[in-house]
Amino acid sequence: MIHRKSVKNKIARPFLFTITAYFSQKIVQQMSDSGSKLTELSSLGEFGLIDYLTKNIHLVQKSTVKGIGDDAAVIKPSSGSQVLVSKDLLVEGVHFDLMYMPLKHLGYKAAVVNFSDIAAMNGVPKQIVVGISVSSKYTVEALEEIYAGIKKACEVYKVDFVGGDTTSSVSGLFISVTVIGEVKKDNITYRSGAGISDLLCVSGDLGGAYMGLLVLEREKKVFRANPDMQPDLSGHDYILERQLKPEARTDIVQMLSKEDIVPTSMIDVSDGLASEALHLCKNSDKGCMIYEEKIPIDQDTFNTAREFGIVPTVAALNGGEDYELLFTVKQSDYDKIKNNPDITVIGYMTEKAEGEKLVTADNQLFDLKAQGWDALKKRDLEKWTSGGKDNKKAK
Ligand code: ADP
Ligand code: MG
Repeated sequence: MIHRKSVKNKIARPFLFTITAYFSQKIVQQMSDSGSKLTELSSLGEFGLIDYLTKNIHLVQKSTVKGIGDDAAVIKPSSGSQVLVSKDLLVEGVHFDLMYMPLKHLGYKAAVVNFSDIAAMNGVPKQIVVGISVSSKYTVEALEEIYAGIKKACEVYKVDFVGGDTTSSVSGLFISVTVIGEVKKDNITYRSGAGISDLLCVSGDLGGAYMGLLVLEREKKVFRANPDMQPDLSGHDYILERQLKPEARTDIVQMLSKEDIVPTSMIDVSDGLASEALHLCKNSDKGCMIYEEKIPIDQDTFNTAREFGIVPTVAALNGGEDYELLFTVKQSDYDKIKNNPDITVIGYMTEKAEGEKLVTADNQLFDLKAQGWDALKKRDLEKWTSGGKDNKKAK
């Protein structure tokens, strides 16, 4: 029934660093244990800290004229290109949980989610600037870990780290990344260009990041109740990686360009397939038809969803943070993508008056609804935390 897909990026992109959720006060200790050799932020001073964190940054982009070190970075976009700018702000306790989010992964993810926004415009990320605001519970070593993750992401995606700002915060950690990208004028892909009967396509597979989050939340709860218990994360490498160390599909943008395909519309999947599809429909003034059985779902995602008593396609439709690309192409481009294991056609665009529809595996027609993944998260979390019968693995 569910179309389960073997995912190429799963093989092509092995862990860059081991996924280890800490499930302890380890990160907090790492930040504030005055008995060890950790360095208080105040000891370096603002400029010392900036110098320390930004050492060993190598610039690789031709368009970077000047990186860190002056009052502003200098960028010279290549001729014929337009500049893309986007920002994401991550707040401790709202967007990440330091109980299980290793700091290096956090830095990596903060950068990558921005690269994903540039990919969603059919562009290439080139530079980032990073604003960071930390409370005194963080040590130099903790910030170094975050920066190691950001620098790793820049290295992998060949993005130059060209500046930032550093301030103290009254409580917690804030990371704000601004990305600068480029795209040739004729290749810019907005959310608004989908035409009637264009094919609706998605890269990779969906729902994994959300299932990874549920596993982490479950184990966190177990750990809180009994700190001597080891978290049971075995067998969940893929979905944990999807949650803790997502990737941006810049490879899809490259592939489309190689095939001479300019998508008619595109968006990245940060809030779940349903919500993103509705964005494309609204912005393009069209309707859509999505086939449930076509939605690509990884086997690990599928199994874990069943374990939690969640319909796997619901995790894909309403989960979040997969950072895949959802896009439309003209039917005439079908031959160019049909054999690509990394792209799945899940439906097509229709007249606006036909609405946004989901055809279920048993051939029923539903209105596509964006429940928003926060609401879903809450509902599912309540379901398993209340020890419902669906939750076989609850301890
Ligand atoms: P200003 O006082 O003009 O804001 P700063 O002293 O904050 O200047 O910054 C000096 C240089 O260091 C600039 O090039 C800035 O982009 C860079 N920088 C400051 N903070 C960071 C940071 N957290 N990460 C990377 N670069 C930074
Ligand atoms: Mg500054």
